[in-house]
Amino acid sequence: MLSLLDLLRNRLASLLPSELKTTELHRLLSPHHHALLLTQRRATMIVNRVRLFAFLFAVLTPAWSIVDWMVFPFELWLHLALQRLLVCLAFAGVLLFYRPSGQLFDAYRAIGILFAIPTVFYITSHYLLGSYQLTQFSAAVGAGYAFLPFVLMAGLAIFPLTFVENLILALVLLMAQALAGYLSWTTLNWPSFAGAFWLLMLIAGVTGLACMSQLAFMIALVRQAIRDPLTGVFSRGSGEEILRLQWDASERHNSALSVAFIDLDHFKRINDTFGHDAGDRVLVQASRNMLDSLRSSDSLVRWGGEEFLLIMPDTDMTQARRALERLMQHGWGSRPDGSRLTASIGLAERCYDRSASPRDLLEAADRRMYQAKQAGRDRLGLIS
Ligand code: GH3
Ligand code: MG
Ligand code: MG
Repeated sequence: MLSLLDLLRNRLASLLPSELKTTELHRLLSPHHHALLLTQRRATMIVNRVRLFAFLFAVLTPAWSIVDWMVFPFELWLHLALQRLLVCLAFAGVLLFYRPSGQLFDAYRAIGILFAIPTVFYITSHYLLGSYQLTQFSAAVGAGYAFLPFVLMAGLAIFPLTFVENLILALVLLMAQALAGYLSWTTLNWPSFAGAFWLLMLIAGVTGLACMSQLAFMIALVRQAIRDPLTGVFSRGSGEEILRLQWDASERHNSALSVAFIDLDHFKRINDTFGHDAGDRVLVQASRNMLDSLRSSDSLVRWGGEEFLLIMPDTDMTQARRALERLMQHGWGSRPDGSRLTASIGLAERCYDRSASPRDLLEAADRRMYQAKQAGRDRLGLIS
């Protein structure tokens, strides 16, 4: 019985996206626990895809006028062509004025605008077509206008979205469809409406899977791009990006921002005496120990070989000092010969140091780290 359950669990686990680690799976559910850089990359990608869609629609919407012209009476064609022109201008506006900012809220708004434009067109064209008696070909093309909700629902599949985001967007589209049915209550063909609604729900399910599998790939790729492969902490390039983002946020909110350089002492001796692999193991152990005693909002970066940068948002000098003293107490682990591994630390804070730029802040921290080395290592550099 137990082995049957195990088998079932293994089978189910093998269906989950294999590119993700088990600790990352919850990120598919909601954007709540996404790291800053993942959110930023995702927001950028969403806005870029919105712009791609806007470009396609800006070209295709007026182009479809040719088909309208062949099948509809002139007056109807003219009205539709005018509407199509407005839609084209709206999409062109999105393309021209909407640029990725890396903010998730902007990305949501971009999706909202992208969907709102054709929805308005759908409603107005629906009323317009309703006032004409269409036959044969023209009736077929007219019926095509009712496919828009399906196009929108399927269109969601191009975005890397979490389960919750997808659910909300799909519900909005389903409710819009239900509302459309409710408004035409008296003339509604119930069986065909129910069939269409069912189809829309099926598309929503498939779309949700597509969105989440895109997100899974994105999470894995972002992790590979921003993490140092040896220690798993942030690599230098992403560290610089995080620092810039945190710097901007702390300037905006006039909040504290502390950074600390942590350089392991006499690391070269480990390599020289015990070999490079032993040195690597010590590096991995040291970064684990640091991660253990950090807050989740702090970011640990491998800045160079055995030098780490710790970025602590909303942390003033006193709090940062306390955190680092705790870290020193916790320790960095041991050297291969069993003796204690030590580090020299330089701390700086944006307001305290009156830094004008992230570079200034880093220089202040670096200077103090050097002082710590000069003063005998295994200590926090003097705050001068
Ligand atoms: P100090 O106390 O002055 O910081 O002395 P140190 O020996 O730690 O400093 P130094 O900067 O002279 O040497 C750093 C050494 O770190 C040099 C290099 O061999 C080693 N190192 C850099 N990256 C890696 C790595 O990825 N793995 C290993 N095993 N060693 C590395
Ligand atoms: Mg060193
Ligand atoms: Mg060094």
